[in-house]
Amino acid sequence: MSDDCIFCKIANQHLPVELLYQDDLIAAFRDINPQAPTHILLVSRAHLAGVSMLTAEHAALLTALCTTAAELARREGIADSGYRLIVNSGPDAGQSVPHLHIHLLGGRSLGWPPG
Ligand code: AMP
Repeated sequence: MSDDCIFCKIANQHLPVELLYQDDLIAAFRDINPQAPTHILLVSRAHLAGVSMLTAEHAALLTALCTTAAELARREGIADSGYRLIVNSGPDAGQSVPHLHIHLLGGRSLGWPPG
């Protein structure tokens, strides 16, 4: 855990943010600035700066992030209407929090290509 990382603090329950899901690898909570009716962030519990830090050793973590996103989409009632998983990496993608996370967005029609 990184002491100055907001997502480390949330994922490890050092801040009073409601977790929608947690296990030993990941946590999920609602985005503070939602861009769609459902906008959930799935984050690693351990501090990794982003997707470019992943190696083959993180296979279980990546599986947990994706399968939990699909389960949360079912819980949110958007599995059939559709949803998008987004990982921003670096400045051109607009990554603003340097801690591995996946956005789960749905509940409205999402434009393509993204901006
Ligand atoms: P990204 O720009 O891909 O790094 O995504 C970071 C996301 O974290 C943004 O959508 C922010 O709205 C969200 N965010 C930042 N701080 C918090 C917070 N304290 N609680 C929930 N979401 C946050």
